[in-house]
Amino acid sequence: MIVMKFGGTSVQDAQAINRVAAIVRERLKEKPVVVVSALAKITDQLLTMASAAGTGHRDQALELSRSARERHYNTAVDLLGTHAFEQIAPELDADFNSLDELLRGVVAVGELTARTTDTIAGFGERVSSKIAAAAFSQRGIQAAHVDSRRCIVTDDNFSKAVPQFDETNARLADLVKPLLDGNRVPVMGGFIGATRQGIPTTLGRGGSDFSAAIVGAGLNATRIEIWTDVDGMMTTDPNLCPQARRIKTISFEEAAELAYFGAKVLHPATLLPAIQKNIPVLILNSRNPACEGTRITATAPKSKNIFKAIAAKRRITVVDIVATRMLMAHGFLKSIFEVFANHRCPVDMVSTSEVSVSVTVDSNESIAAIAADLGKLADVKYDGRKAIVCLVGENIRNTPGIAAKVFGAIPDVNIQMISQGASEINISFVIDESDVPQVISRLHQAFFTDVDPAVFA
Ligand code: ASP
Ligand code: MG
Repeated sequence: MIVMKFGGTSVQDAQAINRVAAIVRERLKEKPVVVVSALAKITDQLLTMASAAGTGHRDQALELSRSARERHYNTAVDLLGTHAFEQIAPELDADFNSLDELLRGVVAVGELTARTTDTIAGFGERVSSKIAAAAFSQRGIQAAHVDSRRCIVTDDNFSKAVPQFDETNARLADLVKPLLDGNRVPVMGGFIGATRQGIPTTLGRGGSDFSAAIVGAGLNATRIEIWTDVDGMMTTDPNLCPQARRIKTISFEEAAELAYFGAKVLHPATLLPAIQKNIPVLILNSRNPACEGTRITATAPKSKNIFKAIAAKRRITVVDIVATRMLMAHGFLKSIFEVFANHRCPVDMVSTSEVSVSVTVDSNESIAAIAADLGKLADVKYDGRKAIVCLVGENIRNTPGIAAKVFGAIPDVNIQMISQGASEINISFVIDESDVPQVISRLHQAFFTDVDPAVFA
């Protein structure tokens, strides 16, 4: 069997879902399980209505719900025609009525809990999966809607619930496998699950990719397809560098490194259940299904090029911390990192000397507060409007002189921090945000002008 996951833009309207049905039909022999996201932007809209209700804005919450309902009904009518629509209308009515009831309840009690937020956030996938299943059936595909809350068992860590794999796998074997054996196409919502007690949960934003990997790992898929609206992973951002090329094949580790920079294409956690089972993941474009996309595998075939991709992340702040009093006494780093942890601020790059530590964080509103807390331990400066540039490739491991090649290509650029070694497959450095376009295009020119045709399109 295979898993085919379609993201929000791939199911955003009737036309998109129609394309999806055609793509699924091409794969019927391979026994697909289909995992769908909510219609594009719907999860955001649900979270907005939840917080509107939580802050007492009843009319605003109900109006957002009404417009979401209308969009889903219109999509379903366009896909199914009025007659078939009437068959699923009672279910959709019941779903949207219960959403409204929840919103009114939140307004009434004047409190939005994490648990209720998750129930509301999951409505998008509940209804998108029903509409997709009905559309498939009407197009002659033997689809069967499966309620993901019955299959994906999680803990009660609302908004980033952790799947309980043994139970999930047992449920998938009980509820989904028999459908495949009967030549049906199970259609499930991504992103959502439920606790053992049946309380709805979500796996975290962008979590439908994770759902696909969980289902694929649980049912021993031969392949997991992540259908999105781009042709796959690229050597760099094509908006910055029109010469960017599609990467045909990349390793899990390389893709995971890049995920931090291009999380739009892929969520790193997606990969884990699939890595462990050695299941290849393909990134494919539902608007251009003929394109081969990018294949992510446990180990990438050897490439003549050192790097697979160059990525940049802007809006980075560099925090320099100079130990005055404690001069790197033991426990100094621990107390520094505790400050970041207390502010729930992830630290990305770190470099240390005898008396100082520099770290990078994504620029955010709490930097000033973090700096104030760090100021109790050491002298602190911070500087925003920085960017991390990162070159990724398995060949870094066994090629000498790489740093010289990289920095030799941009000798006049001011480099602030350098990091190589932690993962062995990336070189990262910090520059001014304004240098990003020229640095990317010069590095791309240096490393991707002559590419290995087995690895790059
Ligand atoms: N609909 C969810 C979100 O927007 C999950 C997903 O699309 O992957 O985060
Ligand atoms: Mg996504």
